[in-house]
Amino acid sequence: MTVVFSMEAPYRGRYELHRLTFGSGSPSVAIVAGLHGNELNGMHAVNLLASSLRFQRPRGTVHLFPLVNTFGADEARKRWPFDDRDINSAFPGDPEGTSVQRIAHALLDATDAQVCVDVHSGAPHVRELPQVRVPLSGEELELGRATGLPVVWRRSGDTLAGTGMLGAWRAAGRKALHVVVGRGITLDSSLARETAQGFSRLLAHLEIVHTAPEGTTVADVTRADIESHRAPCGGFFVPEVRVGHPVKPGHLLGYLQAPIGGDRLGELRAQRAGVVMTVRAWPMVHAQELLVRVAHTREDG
Ligand SMILES: [Zn+2]
Repeated sequence: MTVVFSMEAPYRGRYELHRLTFGSGSPSVAIVAGLHGNELNGMHAVNLLASSLRFQRPRGTVHLFPLVNTFGADEARKRWPFDDRDINSAFPGDPEGTSVQRIAHALLDATDAQVCVDVHSGAPHVRELPQVRVPLSGEELELGRATGLPVVWRRSGDTLAGTGMLGAWRAAGRKALHVVVGRGITLDSSLARETAQGFSRLLAHLEIVHTAPEGTTVADVTRADIESHRAPCGGFFVPEVRVGHPVKPGHLLGYLQAPIGGDRLGELRAQRAGVVMTVRAWPMVHAQELLVRVAHTREDG
């Protein structure tokens, strides 16, 4: 483990940015987790990958950053606690700037790799099936598909992060993948394990490691292939499915009831065959809020 950057903190010693490096030379991959301090499924996934890499001899370089926002993680906060800034908004950073700008600058420098992966979780009130978000075509799509994560979400240019760490990586000529898994504030250990296996498959695709656990993408979709169910009115949402659940047309996804008394206010049903990719975890909802997303699969008749 290397400390690639450190700076004085107002209390409790220093801030340290840790990097685990396996192997050397080309090809090179960097995987960053915990840029947001309350999204730690990626941290667990990266550490699981590190334990498997200890027993292999990678042909190429793998840089792992299990946790960037350490002080945020101490307090279960997404942002950097001292000034409430989002580190992901501070790219490309500035070595003479504020704390988050200095961290962003150091991270951009320390992730000098051909392929870079940024791992997040859903918001604390939403759980996401492990998914990789990639452009509609090109090498990043191919790399995203190589992960074999349950969902490959192909997105048009304007919905891909043009700013933030992903944008900074792309501006530096690196291939960038955006992975989202589970929900904030919570460890979903099985989803983290699936994500770690996806990282192994990416490394196997790049021939950095020889073997990786099998895994298959169940939905390879664009926005048009994703059914978003929103709350028709405010209420208490009771889900009837979990992320990863296969559904057929008409499948009950969940229902809304009155918070007091429990009268049923409405129900959600799948329109087409697919896999549940997103489920609202916090039951109190306002009208129009996202409750369930279903990614369509090919079995649809
Ligand atoms: Zn995040």
